[in-house]
Amino acid sequence: MVSRAPRPTNQVALTIDDGYCAPCVDGYVAFAERSGIPLTFSPNGRFHELWAPHAAALRPLIAAGQIQIGNHTWSHPDMRHLNDTGVRIEIERNDDWIQKTFGITARPYFRPPYGMHDHRIDDLAGSLGYTTILMWNGTLGDATLETPADILGLAERWVRAGAIVLGHANHPTVLGLFDQLDALLAQRNLRPVTLDTMLGTSRAHG
Ligand SMILES: [Zn+2]
Repeated sequence: MVSRAPRPTNQVALTIDDGYCAPCVDGYVAFAERSGIPLTFSPNGRFHELWAPHAAALRPLIAAGQIQIGNHTWSHPDMRHLNDTGVRIEIERNDDWIQKTFGITARPYFRPPYGMHDHRIDDLAGSLGYTTILMWNGTLGDATLETPADILGLAERWVRAGAIVLGHANHPTVLGLFDQLDALLAQRNLRPVTLDTMLGTSRAHG
């Protein structure tokens, strides 16, 4: 399990989950394209119609290592309530979709919905090649609707050296704040990176 950088660093990993709001997915992808900032998306395949229009734009960014994809399950259940078969299906179905859409596996990073997991789920994920449970130690709090001031306050608190920060492509509030987030990174001399970079995971592309 990983929830922060393994060693002192000025790196910060921005990880963006779910993606059930079309303008939010559009906005995050556009932000990545124009800023060059590395992001790790962990989308749910059930929102495939919102991600599909961006597959062509994301593939080269993924190949270049600017964008990384994590597995956050197909339909975002609390995995503790599923039997073993159900857990496997959620992970494998999403991995199949990720491979088909983005041309890459999300292995070894599994982000459990709501951060809810236990030894059984970790073992099942591990048996499917998802050997790293991806948690976080900072949040933009935007899984639910927030004001811009709330999000910026949380960003000021949590976007720090070595942090893995959780955000969501679910509510458009964050879209107006990208310039401020960008400024915060610069002001704190932080280097945004993907999880692969932060954790030194090598990845074959093709
Ligand atoms: Zn989620």
